[in-house]
Amino acid sequence: MITIYTIGGYEEVGKNMTAIEYEGEVVIIDMGIRLDRVLIHEDVNFQRMSSRELRKIGAIPDDTSLKNKKVVAIAFSHGHLDHIGAVAKLAPHYPNVPIYGTPYTIKLTKNEVKSEQYFEVTNPMYETNYGEIVQVSENLAIEFVQITHSIPQTSFVVVHTPEGAIVYACDFKFDNNNPMGERPDYKRLKEIGQEGVKVLIAESTRVAQETKTPSEAVAKMLLEDFFLYEGMDEKGLIATTFASHIARLQELIDIANKMGRQAILVGRSLAKYTGIAKQLGLIKMKGSKVVRSPNAVQKTLREVAQAKENYLLIVTGHQGEPGAVLTRMANGELYNLGKEDTVVFSAGVIPNPLNIAQRYALETKLRMRGVRMIKDLHVSGHASREDHRYLIKLLNPENIVPAHGEFRMLTHYAEMAEEEGYLIGKDVFVSRNEYKVEITG
Ligand SMILES: [Zn+2]
Repeated sequence: MITIYTIGGYEEVGKNMTAIEYEGEVVIIDMGIRLDRVLIHEDVNFQRMSSRELRKIGAIPDDTSLKNKKVVAIAFSHGHLDHIGAVAKLAPHYPNVPIYGTPYTIKLTKNEVKSEQYFEVTNPMYETNYGEIVQVSENLAIEFVQITHSIPQTSFVVVHTPEGAIVYACDFKFDNNNPMGERPDYKRLKEIGQEGVKVLIAESTRVAQETKTPSEAVAKMLLEDFFLYEGMDEKGLIATTFASHIARLQELIDIANKMGRQAILVGRSLAKYTGIAKQLGLIKMKGSKVVRSPNAVQKTLREVAQAKENYLLIVTGHQGEPGAVLTRMANGELYNLGKEDTVVFSAGVIPNPLNIAQRYALETKLRMRGVRMIKDLHVSGHASREDHRYLIKLLNPENIVPAHGEFRMLTHYAEMAEEEGYLIGKDVFVSRNEYKVEITG
């Protein structure tokens, strides 16, 4: 029998954690945090909070159901904080159990652990390449299959069991034209589908959108269409996007180079994600500059404000997070933001009330300063309904557990699965945080 522990991410967008048990042995996949619960933004230091504090406010998963279980491996699907952000708080519950992920994911994980101030993490960490199959016990093996999302080296985590494969598909979209060259490994997915998939665990954040999510190439075109045209005569140019979205940052750096401006990336989280990407050769930073320390940020922005037409600023704060660079600029700090400036939002609004309110406040402040705003030069990194339908066809799973989403998203997924011939309660299971799904027969 296979048991799926739906620990976190089954009532919200965030704090993902799932565990798979076969014959008393457990593989954990992901240990995320829920960003809005810590009032956190990409520049905040939540490492100072204890795990008890974080659990109490629902910011990290409650893994009590795994107490006294024999955990043989921990696997991380990709490097977003809602998938790895709780590692330093939760990995100590499983001392010395090895952690696996792709190189970019593992390097980001090590970075999380390094800044932890309460616990010591003793787990060995292994960088795993696509195609490698790691035997983690006599019965269980794990494999990372290449997929596309909004951060480099994202994987489907496949747990091979004697009863068939468990495929964990959180998060993904099928991007067939990603400018970074990453492509979904359709060939391997098809093979795994033919070998037999016992359970598919799939994200559900955008399953209600009746479309296929466009490629990152579309976002690149949206940005180029605004920045690169003959009549472009904007003075101050400020772009904001996700610090972990390396493909998007590369597009912005390339655009700056084409415009004859210097791209300046401002903020600690931008420095973190691009620094590790550079080590692995995943981003070309030529012509650009990164500033991270508060002093350097102040000094650089003062200089930029003297000759705005020579720069393209890339900053944190697209959700209006307090303390982020753009938010501070809008508050009148760091830079004299005004009528001669244009702010480009290369990010959507993350649809939770806190973000919506903070973003609203930010936009109002920008408008009051006379700043021109260009919103939504962005495409999502998450699968829409038709990506999901295609994944089901590709894998033909015996059972499905919708994951990573609020209750209504999970049920939307289940509805779509019923269109594909599944039945809620029979072979598609909507679960809740801290519950489990038992797959018999
Ligand atoms: Zn993600």
